[in-house]
Amino acid sequence: MSKIKLLSPRLANQIAAGEVVERPSSVVKELLENSLDAGATRLDVEVEDGGVKLMRVRDNGSGIDKEDLAMALSRHATSKITDLDDLEAVATLGFRGEALASISSVARLALTSATDETGSGWQVTAEGRDMETELAPAPHPQGATVEVRDLFFNTPARRKFLRTEKTEYNHLEDVVKRLALSRYDVSFTLRHNGRAIHNWRGGASQSERERRVAQVCGPAFMDNAVHLDIERSGLRLWGWVALPTFSRSQADLQHFYVNGRAIRDKLVSHAVRQAYQDVLYHGRHPAFVLYLEVDPATVDVNVHPTKHEVRFRDGRTVHNFIFSSLHHALAEVSPEDRLARTE
Ligand code: ADP
Ligand code: MG
Repeated sequence: MSKIKLLSPRLANQIAAGEVVERPSSVVKELLENSLDAGATRLDVEVEDGGVKLMRVRDNGSGIDKEDLAMALSRHATSKITDLDDLEAVATLGFRGEALASISSVARLALTSATDETGSGWQVTAEGRDMETELAPAPHPQGATVEVRDLFFNTPARRKFLRTEKTEYNHLEDVVKRLALSRYDVSFTLRHNGRAIHNWRGGASQSERERRVAQVCGPAFMDNAVHLDIERSGLRLWGWVALPTFSRSQADLQHFYVNGRAIRDKLVSHAVRQAYQDVLYHGRHPAFVLYLEVDPATVDVNVHPTKHEVRFRDGRTVHNFIFSSLHHALAEVSPEDRLARTE
């Protein structure tokens, strides 16, 4: 008898879910990214018990056709890329076709959607089973609502790794903040345990952008930040960097985006740290909201399933550009600001 067998679809998805779905915040990230990819301009997030009990994301995007609803939950099913050329210049946040399959293998998932304004939509549900889905009519305005309940209900080992409701909620709120800073034109609301926590109206003018940054990062950040916008040989870096006087004891106010995607990258962190090196006391951390725009063909986002990491074709040029842009912006700040210590 042969010893090698194919994994059941459910087990394969649960293994893949280990990479994509670490905790409630990772679910919300994937759902919000899908909504943005669908062209939504309004995102409403509602969670209970830090997301463990319930996460609901509603959007006003393109919606999903009835025929595609069940397909949306299968693994490696995506409407976003079809060939390698697409992958090499991917412009959407998602493209791996794994999120909904992974989530529905470790939680109870309901996806309701309509592609027009007739009010009649369809709902597909899946409950961590062998990827069997059920389809039923359900009223819905144009867009989609994804409801995820009881995360890890069927994977007790994973459930044990969840932290307190407060910690999980903080991670989740962080994800919403990161995405809110990636799309000024989109409105976001966040509710937790029935309470309205955030309501950020969309708008892309400079003053609306500043309002959003102040809402997300706090007014003190905005009051202590310098705006910069520098372009050189096909690279553009813009955003806000806090004066050294607004340094933090933790690296908790650092937002860096590459072509609209929030990333954490060693090369980028190193360049930023180096730019602040002379003006920050040891052990203090800079605060910034920065956007790097590069030719999509010169950066690989398919390095890791969560897509937090990127690989630049010419890392040295990118590093030098970030370093010199920030160094320059900080050097323009008056000298007495530069080494003032804040606690
Ligand atoms: P990916 O985003 O990598 O394509 P997902 O598993 O996250 O994979 O989603 C699968 C597919 O379901 C997407 O390609 C898209 O066609 C559809 N989809 C998911 N969420 C939404 C949404 N909120 N609105 C419209 N379509 C969606
Ligand atoms: Mg996705």
